[in-house]
Amino acid sequence: MRLGTVSADLVLENAEIIETKQIAGENAADNLLDFVEGYLRRVPIEVSAIAMGFPSTLNRDRTVVVSTPNIAGMDELSLIAPFEARLGVPVLIEKDTCMLMHYDLNRYKITDGILIGYYIGTGLGNIILIDGKIIVGRDGVAGELGHIPVLDRHDKCGCGLEGCSELYVAGIGLERLREKYFPKTEISHIFTEHGATPQIHEFILNMAKIIVTEITILNPDHIILGGGVIGMQDFPYQELRNQICSLTRKPLPGDSLDFIRSDFSNPYNGVIGAAIFARKTLGEV
Ligand SMILES: [Zn+2]
Repeated sequence: MRLGTVSADLVLENAEIIETKQIAGENAADNLLDFVEGYLRRVPIEVSAIAMGFPSTLNRDRTVVVSTPNIAGMDELSLIAPFEARLGVPVLIEKDTCMLMHYDLNRYKITDGILIGYYIGTGLGNIILIDGKIIVGRDGVAGELGHIPVLDRHDKCGCGLEGCSELYVAGIGLERLREKYFPKTEISHIFTEHGATPQIHEFILNMAKIIVTEITILNPDHIILGGGVIGMQDFPYQELRNQICSLTRKPLPGDSLDFIRSDFSNPYNGVIGAAIFARKTLGEV
């Protein structure tokens, strides 16, 4: 978990990183509140709002973290009221992908159209924006491409379903490949050492197939590709793009796809994105 303070001109300060396990577990909501309160005491400035991104589904009103398949104890956390009562400033929560996307949209000066973000880390983070507005759906849980069922696969997902796509195309699937085929390789070197193997080619092909599913439905203006897996050393980015293009219907939308590679220059981009999101939501921009 990364956190920091961000000034009005988007300068990050007081950056910190902690292990998720320090927060996760039975008392995750209390742990998080205690930690943020302690952090605010340590930093030498007064903050005007707090925005937090979670790798989770949230309720429609964005007050409850509903389900977090890949972190224990982060389900049904009602956060806004207790946080605002104790910290005394507006508190906002959103999907972590929303924060990353706001950073990227600001960085690449994109505002309008249909935008799809794929942030592939442990899971398959997905977000859809139309003219700057996140598509949340009736219950708040739209845009969960990582939890659609894949044909003929039945492994258990952290969300409770079986055969979810993110088990095969994100970090979880990559780790499984490593264990089975490349047990002597560190996960961080898997693309460098094994990028030319049939297993990695198939992994990239499967990733492309899942991404193409949503592209085919939405015909987006821009496609943002990011997240920890895509940012790994020697990740075959061009191969992924080529596979997406070759699997997309021609001539349209296949010939008009516009890819943006997420900015990996700073691991705290999501923190800056959270500040951009907060200022937009609170009407200060
Ligand atoms: Zn799932």
